[in-house]
Parts: sequence; structure tokens; C-alpha cells
Amino acid sequence: MGSFSPFPADPPVWSGAAPLVPGGGEAAAGSVADFVGDPGLGAPEGVASLVSLIPVLRDNYVFVLHGPGPGPAVVVDPAVAEAVITWLEERGLELVAILHTHHHSDHIGGTPELLRRWPEAEVIASGADRDRIPLQTRSVAGGDRFTLLGRRVHVLAVPGHTRHHIAYYLPAGDLLDSAPSRIGQAPGGPSSGGDLFCGDTLFAGGCGRLFEGTPEQMHASLRQFAALPEATRVWCAHEYTATNLAWAASVEPADPAIGTRLEAVRGVRAAGHPTIPSRIGLELRTNLFLRAANPAALAVLRSSRNDWTG
Ligand code: ZN
Ligand code: FE
Repeated sequence: MGSFSPFPADPPVWSGAAPLVPGGGEAAAGSVADFVGDPGLGAPEGVASLVSLIPVLRDNYVFVLHGPGPGPAVVVDPAVAEAVITWLEERGLELVAILHTHHHSDHIGGTPELLRRWPEAEVIASGADRDRIPLQTRSVAGGDRFTLLGRRVHVLAVPGHTRHHIAYYLPAGDLLDSAPSRIGQAPGGPSSGGDLFCGDTLFAGGCGRLFEGTPEQMHASLRQFAALPEATRVWCAHEYTATNLAWAASVEPADPAIGTRLEAVRGVRAAGHPTIPSRIGLELRTNLFLRAANPAALAVLRSSRNDWTG
């Protein structure tokens, strides 16, 4: 790991640049919702070994990075505050940082009230979007690296949905190498996936609408995700999976991987469970946007999806 120390005695919330060491990993089975409430056995104290999701509004997810017990926590894209405050307080968690992927209100709406409850929390977002994402204490850009609660964070510039949309990739390698942890380990079997917080750029079975970007930009953004380890867990900010896959099945009715996944996802939703996180490997096999060979193909798919009413 070079000079990078993943477990300082007193883990700083923010510790500046760390070297890039891509996480390895084999494809996981692609089961869904398998990390909510994972106890994170063996993870060092103060390390954000777990990711939980809080469903809010109509179909948004707010994500929480935290350890197995009371302690510090990081929230990603808080659409609202009240549900997040309740969730954290019930678990004895103290908010130390908020990560933003883009400026839409369903991703930043809860931040002012969260800061009233935890005034010391860092607000991390794209510096290029400072005018649209206020209250930033740490402005970042694509290519930046930092550590947060013992985990390395890589900032990816992923324009398309908005012009300054960013994503956060957290490799799992440090923790897996350093401690017998259950990070990235699904109940059904081991994997070594990191975590990708992709906002509204990549959805399970879909991608974000091109509000401010071009098909070229979205294609390039998705290529970055496609290059991540297949076991990477994909934390999409909306529960659009069933609709996306129903559309995909209408475009590619003979594709067995899409059909199988659609059926599985419908079962998960009927049981009231989230379909998030997905996996990069699963998306590579079943997401038509991630499979698009070029920007022109992506543009055709995007307009088909825009027009699709089921
Ligand atoms: Zn959005
Ligand atoms: Fe959104």
C-alpha cells in the first residue's frame, strides 16, 4: 500500500491524497440488498466498514457509511434530513461528513438541516458546482483522492446527467488486506468489491437522463464505471430497477440475462426490498447503456427509454 496507512490510530475524517491501488475481485452472484445491516465483523473501530441505505421520498436512497457500532458516520446524497437524523441517532452515529454527487434537490435537500444538528460535519462536493451546491467545506474534482473514516475515496468526474456530476469510488482492498472483515462479502459467498456511489449517472439497468450533458459525455462516464472491478457494489440513488429492466426486456426480448434479472428484481420488489446495491459485473451483463458500443448507440437507447411508458 506504499505510504498509505489505512488505519491511523485516530482515523481522520479527511486525510488528503492517497495513492491509487485498484481493488481486485471476482464477479459476485449479483444478489440484491445483501448488505443492509451487515454487522461488519472484524472491521477496525472507526472505519466505515458498512454501507446502509435509507429509503426516502418516492424512490430515493440516502446512503450511510458507518462502523458496526456507535461512532462516526458519513452520509451520501441526503435528499432529506429528518429521516436521516432519526436513523443516525437511533444507532448512536455522529455525522462527520456529507458527500454530494450533484446539485439536484433530491440529493442535497437535507444538508442544511443535517448541519444544524451536526455543525462540524464536512460537506464534500464538486468545486465546479459550488454555486449550485452551497455549504461546501471540501471542494473536489475528478481525479482527487482522499480518505474518509479509514476508507480511500476516489473522485470520478462523470458528466452527462448534470455537467458537474461526480461519483465516489471506495476500493475495498485496504480493509480486506488488513483485517478479516466482511466488507464486500455477500451472505452467499465472498467477493472483494469496493463501493461506488454514482448518484444519478448509472442506475441498475439504466442510466440518468441527459439534462446537461451529451451522449458522448455519458458514454465516457459509464466507461469509467465499466472499468471498475466486477464485484464493485453499485449504490444508485434511485429505485428505478424494475422499470429499467422492463424497458430493457422490451428492447432486447431474447436476452436471457435481462429476462432473468427482471424476474428476480420483480420478486425482490414484491417482497418490499431494495434492489440496491447492484454490482458492476451484473450491470455489464444486463444494462444496455453500459453495454452501448458508442455514444450514438447510447443516444438511441436514451431516447427510447425517455419515450417508454411500459
Ligand atoms: Zn439528479
Ligand atoms: Fe435524483
